[in-house]
Amino acid sequence: MAKDDPTNRFGNSVVTSIPDNVPMFSQPGHKLRTSNRIVDRSALPNSQYQVIDTSQLTKLPGQKLETVVHDDQQGIVRLEENSEYDKSVPNQFTGPSFRTQKERFRFDGHKMLHHLDRIQAWQNGQRFAPVHIDMGLTKFCNTACLYCYAVVQNMTKGTMIGREALLQFIEDCGKLGVKSLGFIGDGEPTLNPALYDATVLAAEFGIDTSMATNGLLLDMDRAHDLLKNMSYIRFNLSAGTPEGFRRVHQSSENNFRLLIDNIRELVKIKKANNYKCTLGLQMVLIPECFDEVLAEAELGAELGVDYFVIKQCSDSEYKEIGIDYDAYLKIGDVLKQAEKFSNDNYVVQVKWNKINAAGETNLYKDGYRKYDQCFGTPFLLQISGNGKIYPCGPFFNKERFYIGDLHQDSLYDLITHGERYWQVHKDVSESVDVHKDCAIGCRQDYVNKFLWDLKNPPEHINFI
Ligand code: SF4
Repeated sequence: MAKDDPTNRFGNSVVTSIPDNVPMFSQPGHKLRTSNRIVDRSALPNSQYQVIDTSQLTKLPGQKLETVVHDDQQGIVRLEENSEYDKSVPNQFTGPSFRTQKERFRFDGHKMLHHLDRIQAWQNGQRFAPVHIDMGLTKFCNTACLYCYAVVQNMTKGTMIGREALLQFIEDCGKLGVKSLGFIGDGEPTLNPALYDATVLAAEFGIDTSMATNGLLLDMDRAHDLLKNMSYIRFNLSAGTPEGFRRVHQSSENNFRLLIDNIRELVKIKKANNYKCTLGLQMVLIPECFDEVLAEAELGAELGVDYFVIKQCSDSEYKEIGIDYDAYLKIGDVLKQAEKFSNDNYVVQVKWNKINAAGETNLYKDGYRKYDQCFGTPFLLQISGNGKIYPCGPFFNKERFYIGDLHQDSLYDLITHGERYWQVHKDVSESVDVHKDCAIGCRQDYVNKFLWDLKNPPEHINFI
């Protein structure tokens, strides 16, 4: 391979990687800071790229090079010497999901680009339906996880959305064109017996559904209804051993075994029937489960679930869960090790963007946002497990942001011709100080960042 003089004509160091065997221009034009040795790309063979001999290329100390060939394209990956090449993780996200296997779930980001119709309606000041609604189905639970955010939203034993109200709401969502519902947040959804019929009905209206559950009270007789109709079921599990389960979820070790049996059975039914429903585990990371990370990563692989995701614990605006985000800086190596359990059928992924918040500058690490206004709530609405509608979970129970109640109000009417719904969203976007009034890393955070950027474009946007 040809190498330029390590020092250029200005006395500055230069390093090039021009192979010896490529065609060069004979009259290439003016000299660059290196020279005017320019590859004649038009003379490169069209059909099949030649595999480059990486041993010929310049490497930095401690680097090794590998050739990657995909379809008819070829590239070079630079790796640390001695590091095992993890094909699925060149870095956090470097390309389209179909190429970056683990990004197929896009855990650590948003999918707003796929909903340009709603974005346009928002930009035009029109009324539009949420793309997604996260909702509790109950306001109570059968476990007592140490990190439970629902506790700061006031749990109330026995309270849940009534069956009729829930089914009517789903019909409204169908009419409105809501794309998806997550039975996520507040209490445990499986404590509401209407969960199963609601899931089936939503599918009839073309609405995608999902659920986050502790999995202990699943009605396994209705497993087919869930697996056939839900896009994903996520198990809230922050332990990989019975002892860790007892500690973090404050439940019995027998319950851990029961949960594992349920998951195993669901995986079996899913595979036997070729259901598309994704089954995953989610660990809310707190110092009390740092020692459970690897055990759970291994457990997920053994169970045959599709993913194991590890996320930060979002604390409230008053930091009632007491998370010291600096603690996350100490566990990076373990988290990286956990990700190595990934294989072609099983993704282990850490939500690095949020976990690494502690490594941000002092300004940002305690929850200061990278945007000044919240525009995300009409796109991603949240409903409490008692049926009360709010713009977002952190504002549950705050009278000022109360929109309505599914037991009395029709979401369809509220959105299409009510005033209150839009007044509350306006109040959120115009009056809430996202840096002080909001929970750290709320559900709408990624969406907000995207919308803020759209509202506050850089200079010269036409020079794309
Ligand atoms: S930024 Fe604040 S107001 Fe907006 S969704 Fe998050 S917590 Fe709610």
